[in-house]
Parts: sequence; structure tokens; C-alpha cells
Amino acid sequence: MGSKPGTPVRLVVHKYGGTSVGSIERIQAVARKVATACQSGDRVVVVVSAMSGETNRLTALAHEISSHPAPREFDVLLASGEQVSIALLTMALHEYGIKSKSFLADQIRVRTNNDHIRARIEKIDGDNVLSVINDDIVPVIAGFQGVDDCGDITTIGRGGSDTSAVAVAAAIEADECLIYTDVDGVYTADPNVVSGAKRLAHVNFEEMLELASLGAKVLHSRAVEFAHKFAVPIRVLSSFEEGEGTLISQNDTDLERPVISGVTFEKEIAKLTVSNVNDVPGVAFEILGPIGNAGIVVDMIVQNVSHRGHTDLSFTVPAGDMAVALEILEDVAKQEAFTGSVVDGAQGIAKVTVVGVGMRSSAGVARKMFETLAEKNINIMMISTSEIKISVVIDASYVELATRALHSAFDLDAKPVASEPP
Ligand code: ADP
Ligand code: ASP
Ligand code: MG
Repeated sequence: MGSKPGTPVRLVVHKYGGTSVGSIERIQAVARKVATACQSGDRVVVVVSAMSGETNRLTALAHEISSHPAPREFDVLLASGEQVSIALLTMALHEYGIKSKSFLADQIRVRTNNDHIRARIEKIDGDNVLSVINDDIVPVIAGFQGVDDCGDITTIGRGGSDTSAVAVAAAIEADECLIYTDVDGVYTADPNVVSGAKRLAHVNFEEMLELASLGAKVLHSRAVEFAHKFAVPIRVLSSFEEGEGTLISQNDTDLERPVISGVTFEKEIAKLTVSNVNDVPGVAFEILGPIGNAGIVVDMIVQNVSHRGHTDLSFTVPAGDMAVALEILEDVAKQEAFTGSVVDGAQGIAKVTVVGVGMRSSAGVARKMFETLAEKNINIMMISTSEIKISVVIDASYVELATRALHSAFDLDAKPVASEPP
């Protein structure tokens, strides 16, 4: 695995997602890629997800037994998907003559809190990983899983192996974290939904964090947070074809950047409403406090104008948390202060967001967004903004239409290639 004389040795993390390791042939192709990188002189650490469809299959098995499986046991089950892929990839690397060893998260002490199913990585012992590399062995590490203080297995949320990879990269101070996936970079919108979407050569951390946390599942949002915090450059690349991909870093030299860099959407959300509540101090806290205590992330919050001392409060949560959130609100509504209040939960909604740091210095983005949606006759139910994004909640059946319309309205569509004159 020695580098050519004079070539600087790079320390890189390669992360391969589910589709990239979705079959034996694909695992062999990944092994060839890793072998090529090693032969070029890179020192490589590999992080992998479960084979595509496996985490969904395991989830469905659990739900055949229980609608609320015990979170500790659910994590033991879910983590098994990555155990299979690390072992198979390591065997494939051996076939290419690469010295390699697979590692479960607890073997390299990926410490998380004990918040099962959505645990947060707190610490990774980088020295453990570095000592393996220093023995000229390629570590193949299971993404998505960790271990808590009691030694119990945890998982860090769907899509979380991106975060595992960036956390490993931060712990070993890698030069770059390469996220290999089924698209060749980050696009101005999901290329599987908007055919005119364009690959972005560079995205800065701030924009990528908004895109990822608002639906662009090409990167797990915690991965971007880690990368930003520890200044780890990420490059998103295709597992299947060569290319430059998209660099996600702090460096922002693109002076000609457009006002909007991307449009993203999220379908898996639910809206909860508590209507006819007394409009007095402390009500929002009484409603949202127990929701926060249950670890449920609340996103948009809208409180109506007060009418005769009463108001309605609506907020959105991830769809998977709706049942628990409803139970909590029904308990809240039993209190005397909430007599006459009604609790309601709605699915079938979606959030569409436009993101761009250029928005900071440009007026009229909201006007253009609302005008575009009005032209398509799409009703806006909720709105939220930050310095670099505007999100709206709409009926889920219009989400693709809205995304495409906004992508065109903000001039993000790829220009048709001019044909050669005859
Ligand atoms: P992996 O299994 O490799 O982690 P994911 O399915 O999690 O891959 O993420 C890749 C997918 O993200 C793509 O297939 C694409 O449909 C989706 N995606 C959503 N938004 C974007 C975007 N802005 N740019 C690129 N891909 C996106
Ligand atoms: N296997 C996990 C999932 O399907 C983690 C990941 O793919 O990043 O969510
Ligand atoms: Mg993913």
C-alpha cells in the first residue's frame, strides 16, 4: 500500500451508502475503488451503511411483532444491517490483496448518548482507528451505530452513517471525507424529482446544513454540523462513475453565486394543532414543553391572532413522532386550564424550502416564492424563514409541482445544450 515517492499521503474517509453496497457485485466494485485509492497512496478508512433496503426490512420485521418495539431492542436489530456489510466488504478487500479488518462501533468506541433510535455521537477514540491504519490495515467501520455508557448498542437516526463517517474523519483529523452515493454530487434539487436540476461544484456548510435538515437526504444533517464544527471538508461523489462531485466546505470564493442555491422538500412531516386555548402567558410552554421533554423536534410553529381571549397553536413534527405527540397533547388538554381546547393531528402535508446565502443581500425572494405558488394555485398553510431560507407547508400532493415551479422561477434549471449549427 506504499505511496509513490514524492506523492503526499492523504488520510481520507470513504463512506459508501446502501445502494453502493446493495449487492455482491457492488460490494466487489467498492472493494476495487478502495484498493485503487490505497494503491495511489491514500490512507483509507471505510465507513459503510447496510445493504440497500435492509434497514427498512428490519424495521418492518420489528413492526410485525410490535407497533412500539422497545427502543433498546429495536437498536440491536437495526444495527445488524451494518454488521453484514462491513464483513462482506472486508472479505472482498482481502480478495483484492488489501489487508483489512471490520469493526463494529463498540470495537472502536463510538460513544453516543442513550437516546435510542436517535442517539447523538459524543466521542470517537481516533487513536484506536489510527493504530489500525498505522499497521497498514484498512479499517471498515459500521456506520449508523454507536454504544452508550452502559455498553448498549444505539443507532443515530435514519441516514446516519454519513454522520458516522464525518465523526470518524474529525476524530482522526482526515484530510477529506468522501461520501460515495448513487448521485454524482449535490444538486440544485433532488435530481430524481427535478430533471433540470444541476450539480453544484461547491456548497458552503451553512447552505448544506439548511438543505440537509430540510429534506435533501443526500447528506444527513448532523454530518454537516460535525463537518462544520471540526472543519472537515466533505466531497459527495458517485460510487458508479468518475467525477469531481460536490465539495462542501467553508471556503466560499464563488462571487457570482445565485440568490437561491437550491430547492428542497420534505414529505414526512405532520401538523399538530391545539385549538381554542386561553391566550395567556405560559400556554405555549405548557403545550410545547412536554413535547420537547419527549425528545420530539418541533419545527414550524404558528399561533393565530387572538379572538375573544382564545387562540389556536399549530406546529409541525416528524411524521414518525405524530402518534406520541398526540398522546402527549391529549394529556395536556385534560388540564383545567385547557377546558374547551381541541387537539388535532394532520398528515398529508409537506414542506418546500428555498435556500441560498445570496438571500441575505437580495430583496423579493419571498414575493417571488409566494407569487410562483399562487400561479400554480397552491395554498400555503404555514411559513417560516431564516436569514438564508424560506419554507412553506403545503398539501403533500403538490410538493413535486411546487418544487419544479420554484426551481424554474429562481432560474436554477439547466440550460438546454445548444445544438451544433449544420
Ligand atoms: P445513500 O444510501 O448513499 O446514503 P441516500 O439515498 O441517502 O444515499 O441519498 C442519495 C439520494 O438523495 C439521491 O438518490 C437523491 O434522490 C436524494 N437527494 C435529495 N436531494 C438531493 C440533492 N439536492 N442533490 C442530490 N441528491 C439529492
Ligand atoms: N442503514 C441506515 C439507514 O438505512 C443508515 C444509513 O443508510 O445511513 O438509514
Ligand atoms: Mg444516506
